[in-house]
Amino acid sequence: MPEGAHRFELGSLNCTVLSDGYVAYPAPWLFPNADPARLWHALESRRLPTDRVLSPYACLLIETGRHVVLVDTGGGNNSLSSGAIVARLDVAGIRPRDVNTVVLTHAHPDHIGGAVDGRGLPLFPNARYILAEAEWDFWTASRASLQPLRIPDELKNRMAQTARRTLAALRMQVEPIVCETEILPGVRAIPAPGHTPGHLAVLLSSEGHHLLNLGDAAVHPLHLQEPEWENGFDLAAAQATATRRALLQRAAAERMHVMAFHFPFPSVGTIAPADSGWEWKPGW
Ligand SMILES: [Zn+2]
Repeated sequence: MPEGAHRFELGSLNCTVLSDGYVAYPAPWLFPNADPARLWHALESRRLPTDRVLSPYACLLIETGRHVVLVDTGGGNNSLSSGAIVARLDVAGIRPRDVNTVVLTHAHPDHIGGAVDGRGLPLFPNARYILAEAEWDFWTASRASLQPLRIPDELKNRMAQTARRTLAALRMQVEPIVCETEILPGVRAIPAPGHTPGHLAVLLSSEGHHLLNLGDAAVHPLHLQEPEWENGFDLAAAQATATRRALLQRAAAERMHVMAFHFPFPSVGTIAPADSGWEWKPGW
């Protein structure tokens, strides 16, 4: 596999993590309630930049033999350093018209931007787009309130505009779901609200193996180690923290592999309880 694509088998499911790119965020956006000195030390001790966080975008391609599924679509035209999903699919031998199911964990621009092409038309013409009904309702309401997000207002406005415009383009292909749903055999969408009202996690299961894709329920391994550290992009921070804990407890108890869209590529690994949180063990 070329750079930017990481392939593995989960039972009978052929999975490939595809890098869409990355974006750098000011560290306080991702850790708004972290004590600044502790955050600085945590980043410095990992030899990471202390003022900015390089946040990868990782989409998940699942080939079942009958179905081609893409979980999240990356940033599309929303930044210069992301938007590689079509090129990555190409090296994996997949054309956009081959994809028949797109699961959108939520409608932030880094997850739905790649669902449309440069003209704003659906990029995957033969796909049904799965997302939560609560997500659809929130963003298509006349004025989605992003007031609780601890990021600049200008960015909030852009996020709302991108979601509204993109969802409008997808409206003929969207299949909203209202509760935990088996989308295909072995591919299950699980409500995981807090980051957004209709945020979904995705559980893959095959032949006794499991992979829990957290979406944005955790956006950096430090959120596992310090579970009280919030994410400035979480709309309902307390609910997001509770959701994160519940998903991580389940993954640890059931020894699942874990994926998170913004974790260091290839964004898959396992977790183990450590101190008051969990330790991230990257790799497949
Ligand atoms: Zn995201």
